[in-house]
Amino acid sequence: MPNSQQSLFNFDNTDENLRFKTLEEVKKVCNYCYKCDLSKTRTNVVFGEGVFSSKIMLIGEGPGQNEDETGKPFVGKAGKFLDKFLETQDISREKNIYICNIVKCRPPENRVPTNEEMAACREYLDAQIQLMRPKIIILCGSTAVKAMLGVKSGITKIRGQWFEGPFDAKMMPLLHPSYLLRNQSKAVDSPQWLTLQDIQKIKKELDSFN
Ligand code: SF4
Repeated sequence: MPNSQQSLFNFDNTDENLRFKTLEEVKKVCNYCYKCDLSKTRTNVVFGEGVFSSKIMLIGEGPGQNEDETGKPFVGKAGKFLDKFLETQDISREKNIYICNIVKCRPPENRVPTNEEMAACREYLDAQIQLMRPKIIILCGSTAVKAMLGVKSGITKIRGQWFEGPFDAKMMPLLHPSYLLRNQSKAVDSPQWLTLQDIQKIKKELDSFN
């Protein structure tokens, strides 16, 4: 049974009066967005990548340098590490997951996006969720957790737990791959070991939909 929490979702729009009808429409607007100052320093808007018809969406914080240069999410060292973890459970962006971020433009020096930047960008993420209707949403790292759950408790305390998400989705906080790279131990109860357990739990849930 997922934990319930105060809703931070803004899905008042009915399908009939949704601003965006397709993902391509959202992407087109996002690619020419200048709603916040992150537009001044970005190289590329990083909208999202993966299988949009899949049942899992992974949400991270925002693009870093490699992502800004390529226009793709999670493609640097940490992203490749995340891919490896997901692939242990046969989950990949080529096959069955869609990956995006809270903010679509890189914050300078990889700082955490401000509340104003996250709020400005939120309509694109909400549109992605509303159009995709994932059954499982992975909140990768503390910024994604804060934005989607509004909880202040550390991610290490709530990782691996299910929370109620929009459109009956189940959301699970997952440790960020940058943190895993800094903690290389694979011993029982280490961050990497715990993350593997979490991804196995996610896979079990995914399989229940097949
Ligand atoms: S971060 Fe989001 S709101 Fe800000 S300019 Fe980029 S796309 Fe627009």
